[in-house]
Amino acid sequence: MSDDKSVAAFAAPPVCDLQPYVPGKPLDELEREYGVTNAVKLASNENPLGPSARVLAAVTEAAAGLNRYPDGNGYYLKQKLASVHGVSQSAITLGNGSNDVLVLLAEAFLTAGSSAVYSQYAFVVYPLAVQATGAEAIVVPANPDSHEQPLGHDLDAMLAAIRDDTRLVFIANPNNPTGTWVEHAALYAFLRAVPADIVVVLDEAYCEYSGEGARTVSWLEEFPNLVITRTFSKIYGLAGLRVGYGLSSPAVADLLNRIRQPFNVNQLALVAAKAALDDAEHLDAATELNNSGMHQLQEGLATLPVKVLPSKGNFLLLDLRKPAADVNEKLMREGVIVRPVGNYGLPNHLRVSIGTAEENAAFLAALKRCL
Ligand SMILES: *Cc1c(COP(=O)(O)O)cnc(C)c1O
Repeated sequence: MSDDKSVAAFAAPPVCDLQPYVPGKPLDELEREYGVTNAVKLASNENPLGPSARVLAAVTEAAAGLNRYPDGNGYYLKQKLASVHGVSQSAITLGNGSNDVLVLLAEAFLTAGSSAVYSQYAFVVYPLAVQATGAEAIVVPANPDSHEQPLGHDLDAMLAAIRDDTRLVFIANPNNPTGTWVEHAALYAFLRAVPADIVVVLDEAYCEYSGEGARTVSWLEEFPNLVITRTFSKIYGLAGLRVGYGLSSPAVADLLNRIRQPFNVNQLALVAAKAALDDAEHLDAATELNNSGMHQLQEGLATLPVKVLPSKGNFLLLDLRKPAADVNEKLMREGVIVRPVGNYGLPNHLRVSIGTAEENAAFLAALKRCL
């Protein structure tokens, strides 16, 4: 009889070397392990308001139909998204989170002989998705610490890094975990300069916080190689349901829809996402809470010995200028969960999500004691 090690030895080589994604620590896990109560989780860029009341009502109603398979084409959600964005339904690919769409893009366009370009410190799902295909990752050095967008994407360097075998470029705007962004004028110039047969993935998971998403959607007609990804996990407060989407030329959407699982988005997620798009007030409330929380954190952090990176998301990256693991451990003992980013090659940094005013205050007080 062979053990599982010998079976694992026959896995596809790129898979054997994958480092698993490390999620933010769940609240109940921290409370169990550290014996604390009323812990605060500011680790996964979740919406502190929760889902909208309209979404909860829609999900409750839809729950009675859970014996049925979901609508594999997500007709009503796509219809809604098409009208919200002014695109055709054939331009939309729904995903089990936008993570799913990012992986589908890698599967559709990358093979062992090709390459993908992304920035150092870019969202960790890109390296995972690229590596699993056996394609080569071209990691472009980020902006230096002294740049006005420290550790952010250097679009000129990314353009220069594109090779003949490059099939995909990933851009997160704003980027997680840095919070940094690229201006739309620079992005537009980048798209004009990239060869038309290379797919540019523009990950806009946080674009609603700055209200700047509409602009890029208007570029889809000019750039059939542009794919915009969006999610319901962040400002819409539906991270637990797993739903996101891609906007692209119909030709690219057709490819992605061929390789996705037939029922990749569950019925409650379809219903919830559609209801979320109808609740503009919830979106406004989330934006306002984020703006005031950002201000509160920036003001509080200014009195502490940390460097705060600029951010257009619902989180801030802090440079402690010393190893962050120890401070992170102390924060957990105080019942505060933030995100260490050593896996990004940033051992001195911590990422903190913007929470409610009380959560932000609890974090600031705890950080002050832990530094
Ligand atoms: C959170 C996040 C996503 C999306 O996550 P899903 O929950 O899978 O939709 C995508 N890109 C970035 C940069 C993110 O931070």
